[in-house]
Amino acid sequence: MPLPDRPLTALLIRIRNQTILFDCGEGTQITWRRNGWPFRPTGTILLSHLHADHVAGLPGILFNIAHAGRTEPVTIYGPPRTYEITRNLTSIVGWVPYDLRVVELDGDDEVRLAEDLTLRTQRLRHPVHCLGYALEIRRNPRFDPERAAARGIAMTDWKRLQRGEIVDGVHPADVTGPPRRGLKLALVTDTSAFADLIPFVAGSDLLVCESMYIDDAEAEKAAERGHMTTRQAARLAASANVGQLWLTHFSPSVQDPQDALALANEEFPHAVVGETGLSTTLRFRD
Ligand SMILES: [Zn+2]
Ligand SMILES: [Zn+2]
Repeated sequence: MPLPDRPLTALLIRIRNQTILFDCGEGTQITWRRNGWPFRPTGTILLSHLHADHVAGLPGILFNIAHAGRTEPVTIYGPPRTYEITRNLTSIVGWVPYDLRVVELDGDDEVRLAEDLTLRTQRLRHPVHCLGYALEIRRNPRFDPERAAARGIAMTDWKRLQRGEIVDGVHPADVTGPPRRGLKLALVTDTSAFADLIPFVAGSDLLVCESMYIDDAEAEKAAERGHMTTRQAARLAASANVGQLWLTHFSPSVQDPQDALALANEEFPHAVVGETGLSTTLRFRD
């Protein structure tokens, strides 16, 4: 339930000139407008599950994307029944100038969103079918012009090698350095804690994870309802060796989410309590 100073779950990801929206609670368009990012570059929408607090803002967003003049397709990824729910929600939006596509995923999926951008899913533990998402940007090894020149490759063909093509029998690995670390962003909400989450989010530069309850005493209630406590989220971040943890999706019964910080830090030092407008830039580490 949205509170006056605490809107519902939604996250924007900007990769190059594309915007990806993750979840879309009621009122998402208001906070979106406040942060000033344009609607038009939004070609991908990821839905964790079809509970109202994650999808009720969809009509407003789809309308805004249309109003901004987008004509390229928009694809909504979500669990089974996403097509049906989206169709019902969009029936009040009317005509849109773009092709609206829906892809239903099950969990354990791998989708190529771009040449170097992969989306993976994991089925979460929640009363309804719910998906965790991991976005991974692959990074090509560094290209070595001297080695390419030494092998007689014309400069006009360097781009092909950089893209991973074999040129005149020269393999990209012959003219590039060692593999380089890419970037990983993991989005985990709503779910109870379980061991298989660790490999799924392992090594993320940023893990955005639900933290429905702060108090350890509510761990049992959290598990019953398919949610996590702050400590469980922080332990997940520590076990999975992530770079940074953002805690989100606090229960309306939590008076001040910032109370979660000290507790989270007992398990994991790089935790941040999510708040409206929280933003960061993830950069390649080398
Ligand atoms: Zn839910
Ligand atoms: Zn929820």
